[in-house]
Amino acid sequence: MADPRGFLNHRERQERPTRPVPVRIMDYKDVYVRQDEAIVRTQATRCMDCGVPFCHAGCPLGNLIPDWNDLVRRGRWEEAAARLHATNNFPEITGRICPAPCESSCVLGINQPAVTIKQVEASIAEQIFENDWLPPHRPHRQNGHTVAVVGSGPAGLAAAQQLTRAGYTVAVYERDDRVGGLLRYGIPDFKLEKDVIDRRIAQMEAEGTRFRTGVEIGTDIAWDELKDSFDAVVVATGAPVGRDLPIPGRGLEGIHLAMDYLVPVNRRVAGGEQEQISAEGRHVVILGGGDTGADCIGTAHRQGAASVTTLAIGRQPPSQRPSHQPWPTVPTLFEVASAHAEGGERTYLASTVEFLGDERGRVRALKVAETEYLPDGSRSPKAGTEHEIPADLVLLALGFIGVEQEAITEQTGVQVTRGVLGRDDAFQTAEPGVFVCGDAGRGASLVVWAIAEGRATATAVDEFLTGEPSDLPAPVKP
Ligand code: FAD
Repeated sequence: MADPRGFLNHRERQERPTRPVPVRIMDYKDVYVRQDEAIVRTQATRCMDCGVPFCHAGCPLGNLIPDWNDLVRRGRWEEAAARLHATNNFPEITGRICPAPCESSCVLGINQPAVTIKQVEASIAEQIFENDWLPPHRPHRQNGHTVAVVGSGPAGLAAAQQLTRAGYTVAVYERDDRVGGLLRYGIPDFKLEKDVIDRRIAQMEAEGTRFRTGVEIGTDIAWDELKDSFDAVVVATGAPVGRDLPIPGRGLEGIHLAMDYLVPVNRRVAGGEQEQISAEGRHVVILGGGDTGADCIGTAHRQGAASVTTLAIGRQPPSQRPSHQPWPTVPTLFEVASAHAEGGERTYLASTVEFLGDERGRVRALKVAETEYLPDGSRSPKAGTEHEIPADLVLLALGFIGVEQEAITEQTGVQVTRGVLGRDDAFQTAEPGVFVCGDAGRGASLVVWAIAEGRATATAVDEFLTGEPSDLPAPVKP
């Protein structure tokens, strides 16, 4: 039972403390520092334990938020950890990088700042790691069925952990040299240090999940061969194909898809030797204001960029508008991220119409027009408003259009619909025994959705292979 007057006695929302900007942009270590335990407990006290906790519905995992807020308030961290683990395989990840839809659903948010749910979660996760409350949950017995999971991002890992613990023999195939998917080489260390992933993988290995890195299904092992070797296959290969901008000048040197920039830098931070694109001393323009764009901002500053400008085609989201700015709104275009506090300019309603080059074929500027909203809601560059923005490094962070489809569709009966792998209400593709979860099935999304889909897919696989209703949880539908 929550403290019924907690939210009245503690009205102030205390955010996670960060390292000072001038210090943190000197390295790639975590931006956030630990919040004092007493403060976390006070913040947890603000939870009202609502009769109908909308935060549950806001969280795709259905996290039991009021329960663990109350346990943290009382200082019962180990029980809070168990409650958190009951619905979330990887709270150390979501506590760090989830945009926390639960906080947008927090009832306290109606007339006070929402409870710092994400920070409470991150603090519980820290306690889990520090106190080693991460014992392997080995199955009581193997059930004799085998499952291949392809892709080791959060969706594949969640599915693998659920199935391993339920007694399946699970092998995770990953084409990269290390496990983790976008968590490993997509998301920079200043948001997610990689030892966090390693700790969890060690637990999974101790539980019995087997990992095969450096194996690309479709190339090293054919999809149909894999299907024939296992009782079921879970495809969790992500949606990595980036959206390009085929406008005049796109072929100039110095224009890159964001992931071609971020991944090599992240590999270098991980100790790899890979050549990276450097923003040092350069005027960087990033197109797109989501998570990927924000990660480019933070990375460019750490590399010593001369300037960093982000352009978004749409309007400024309401949360960041000055009070005189008129309603109605459009969906969020700039995620508010720690990287935004580190500097750089942001320009809204900016449509890039051309890249301009110098005599050596290198980009020197963007021709940008103001975005005009047409009566049908579509957007177009407004004639007569064109101007130039100087740039010598341009990063396209315009989202992702879907899956890499050639091998899987050629080698199996799996179909692609609107850029993602088609599946039914039970996460199963047109190919019996082949399931899809995470970004590969829903399109580029969030870690919390990937984990939720991984959990639910494990349940679907369990039902498929046993022919009986499963005891495992199914937090979401496709
Ligand atoms: P992925 O994480 O993409 O993993 C797929 C894995 O499959 C990869 O490791 C890939 O190598 C492997 N694979 C693919 N094909 C094969 C094959 N044929 N054989 C073997 N292996 C294969 N979400 C948040 O919630 N918060 C954030 O702050 C956030 N920041 C992000 C920043 C960036 C730059 C990006 C790109 C995404 C971000 N996201 C964020 C989104 C989040 O990372 C994804 O939604 C999530 O990782 C999807 O998980 P997944 O398991 O479906 O796929």
